[in-house]
Amino acid sequence: MSTDTSAPEPGRPVVLRRGKVLTMDDAHDMLDDADVLVMDDRIAGVGPDLDAPAEAFEIDASGGIVMPGMVDTHRHMWQTALRGYGADWTLAQYFTWFYLEWGKIFRPQDVHAGNLLSAIESLDAGVTTTVDWSHGLQTIDHADAALDALQAVPGRFVFAYGNLQQGPWEWATSPDFRSFVERRLDGRDDMLGFQMAFDVTGDPEFPEKAAFEVARELGVAVTTHAGVWGATNDDGIRLMHEHGFMTPENVYVHAATLEEDSYYRIAATGGSASVSTESEQSAGQGYPPTWRLRKHGIPVSLSMDTSTWWSCDLFSAMRSTLGADRSREHLEAHTRQGTVTHHHLRAEQVVDWATRGGSKALGLDSIVGSLEEGKKADVVLIKNDDSPAMFPVLHPYGHVAFQTQRGDVHTVIVDGRVVKHAHRLVGLDLGAARRAVEETVEFAMRELGDEEWISGMHPEIPETQVYENPYQYTEYKGRERA
Ligand SMILES: [Zn+2]
Repeated sequence: MSTDTSAPEPGRPVVLRRGKVLTMDDAHDMLDDADVLVMDDRIAGVGPDLDAPAEAFEIDASGGIVMPGMVDTHRHMWQTALRGYGADWTLAQYFTWFYLEWGKIFRPQDVHAGNLLSAIESLDAGVTTTVDWSHGLQTIDHADAALDALQAVPGRFVFAYGNLQQGPWEWATSPDFRSFVERRLDGRDDMLGFQMAFDVTGDPEFPEKAAFEVARELGVAVTTHAGVWGATNDDGIRLMHEHGFMTPENVYVHAATLEEDSYYRIAATGGSASVSTESEQSAGQGYPPTWRLRKHGIPVSLSMDTSTWWSCDLFSAMRSTLGADRSREHLEAHTRQGTVTHHHLRAEQVVDWATRGGSKALGLDSIVGSLEEGKKADVVLIKNDDSPAMFPVLHPYGHVAFQTQRGDVHTVIVDGRVVKHAHRLVGLDLGAARRAVEETVEFAMRELGDEEWISGMHPEIPETQVYENPYQYTEYKGRERA
């Protein structure tokens, strides 16, 4: 058997040996010193000392953690072309930029560039299934470009079609959209999912009804930004419910600024929430809602939203979600003069949300989300012998949520194919993505001009009030020393 560090060719069996295996099966079985065998596109075995074919490529997982590929249920992948640009934005600045400024001029190749980089980034970080919440599809050419990029990368993607420049009742009912679906999405396999992505404004006329009807006719799920302060609210949820469009397939993104009544409606109709904690914390959609969703028994998946602002790996999502949930529980207790002595939300739960939570939300749970014999082989090995943060591994769920970074992702397998090995991408053209993104950045800077480019990145800072301090430093300093 081979133990060299060059990656195996597609089709060759792979066995990961002697890792701590987080199966994420229904019982959350965790196996010490166990193997995972991948044959063709499937998991052929999970357990100690597995028999593997002589030609199997062996990966030493000792000291590492083997877990299912992670699932991100909401990412605007096209926006990755301008990674980090909006670090200091609020939601208001985001809307201005993507609806009125950059949103007016970006081209199909800019969507392609963003999607290509984002798709590669997902695999590098162990995110084997990513929902491309693609609401920049102003034309069918943009849609073709977005999908071309996803199909150029050997990850599992769900193409969530949207167009923020039109009402969903317009684009979803257009012949162009319908022929695109027939041409590009009929006959898709389990490497490519399809959702419709649009928001419900709460307009009492409920114009979004026409788009929901198209989704129902096509048999695709709707993903919708719900409970976003200043944008979508309880009226949208109520209208969806009253018109019979709340179904278990629906994904409610953020679900932050909502009354209990909306959570009752979501829980009763079986939908799930996609929580983007880093996003909610700094953009202002509302407090990251897991501390409330848990009380309603609403299923949760995790997402990173957009790398225009934030990181796009699910380690960050798990970490920030644990922090926000626990932070809120402490704060609520303190307002009652109480003390939280035991946390409700555990590291194990957020690892579940990052894997099974996503596969369930997307209707892919019989295919991916856990390491079980017969499921498709989407597998991640976390192991970094050069990192002082990678040992000891005492609490593997905690290690994934709080200690691990994307650089610690050693191996990634999607659909049985090794796409990252020994910390290096395999068969992915990062150079092409880099050149495409550089071209997009140059275009954006040129078209917008220096002033708009710079002011878009650095919004004005509101005046800061500094309290008048009743204590004087000089008084303190002037005390006699004993
Ligand atoms: Zn979003």
